Amino acid sequence: MTLPSRILKTKRKIWHQLNLNSLRVRLTVGITTVSAIGLGSVTIWTTLKMQHILITTHKEDIQYIAERLPQDIEIYTQMMSSTAAMQKAIDYRTDANTVLWVQRPDRSIIVQSSIFKSPDNTSFLKSLSSVPPEPRVLEVEGRYWVLCGTNLQLDGETLGKLYVAKDVTRDLKMFLDMIPRLSIVSLLSIAAITILIALHVRRSLQPLQKMSQLTKKIDAESLGEATIHLDNAPSEVRELAQTFDEMLLRLHESWEQQRQFVSNVSHELRTPLTIVSGYLQSTLRRGNNLTEPQREALEIASSETARTISLLQTLLDLARADSGHLHLNLDTFLLNDLVKEIVEMAKQYSNRIINLETNQEHILVKADASRLKQVLLNLIDNAVKYSDSDQAITVKLASSKSQAIVQVCDRGNGIPLQHQTRIFERFYRLDEARSHSTGGTGLGLSIVKTLVEEMGGSVSVRSQLSKGSIFTVILPGEIY
Ligand code: ADP
Repeated sequence: MTLPSRILKTKRKIWHQLNLNSLRVRLTVGITTVSAIGLGSVTIWTTLKMQHILITTHKEDIQYIAERLPQDIEIYTQMMSSTAAMQKAIDYRTDANTVLWVQRPDRSIIVQSSIFKSPDNTSFLKSLSSVPPEPRVLEVEGRYWVLCGTNLQLDGETLGKLYVAKDVTRDLKMFLDMIPRLSIVSLLSIAAITILIALHVRRSLQPLQKMSQLTKKIDAESLGEATIHLDNAPSEVRELAQTFDEMLLRLHESWEQQRQFVSNVSHELRTPLTIVSGYLQSTLRRGNNLTEPQREALEIASSETARTISLLQTLLDLARADSGHLHLNLDTFLLNDLVKEIVEMAKQYSNRIINLETNQEHILVKADASRLKQVLLNLIDNAVKYSDSDQAITVKLASSKSQAIVQVCDRGNGIPLQHQTRIFERFYRLDEARSHSTGGTGLGLSIVKTLVEEMGGSVSVRSQLSKGSIFTVILPGEIY
């Protein structure tokens, strides 16, 4: 295979695999989408939950400090002044991330975490006007704080407003940094899941593909023996294959019945028609006192009867060939003589110019001489029917290796390409109107093909519209 055709084949294979209507692609896309949505939802839910837990923990921390501080101050008040006690309690609860301060209603500071004393980035907190009593997360100048402000009361007396603020920027940043990594891990997991699902779906659908391949090989001839065996297939597919086998059996039976019917009808009709034909011919021979219209009517009746007998004989032959009961008298004989005899015969009945082209070789074939005669006469008859009467027909006899080749060539209407493979089918006629005037039945070429193949040969056609057709019969032979 050349490189471009190999590339083309690979492209076709990939396109075939990517066929959006295929069950394989649909299942893969469907399952992957559901898995991706599931995994994505779990990831988002986990992220939100983690953020919630983180914030709640910090909120609880400062809530605890806000609730606990009055008790601390009360303990220290027994040993020192209330302002010193407040300062001591606040210092005790202050750490690197947590700051506290107490303000009067006029916003002046009573006490504050010592961290405020040196100029630092927390002093702006004190300028915040609305601080909620319940802990909230606030973003202040690029930093995140969990903040709350409650009234500070001691022995029923309000000392001021206590503010507790915790810097959670580091924790939140760590958490936010984790999100892209989590997203990448999720995407990689989705990709891995997609590959695994695609492989799994492919494997699961393999029995169906195998079933389709096996079914493609079944034709009318092999219906009887055809069965679809699928080892290791899922039970549903095995069930389908079994149903298919049962259907094939039913088809085989009805096909056999049909064959039998055609064979019986042909046989039953042929005998009385042969008798009718005999009577018609003897009446025509002996009927000296027949009027001209009577003679004409009897001649038409006789020729139509002969045509019907020939059609029935062909149907009978085809039915016998189908059931393997067509009997052939195979004999070895010189093909040159037979072809010469047929050409002479055809010249007489068709009144046409029929040339015979042959070289000096003597070609021996093993075939049924009378059936081969029928084949070649059929082909010559078609050449006569489908070409103008002033055009010559040529019969060529040649050989190649150990094959005998007979060609029947005409310069007639030709056969369009799309019909060339179909003309060998039973009752297939190209142009019903044109064919009707020629009086054919559409069975000529199918019996030609059946007979040639029964003799171990093959028949093919090459044709060009308005230029003519060449029918080639190849038979196994010996050349001298
Ligand atoms: P028919 O009885 O109609 O001739 P055949 O089976 O012999 O049936 O041929 C099938 C069809 O093939 C014909 O109807 C005709 O249209 C076409 N055909 C056969 N031989 C030729 C030919 N030599 N040239 C053109 N068309 C042909």
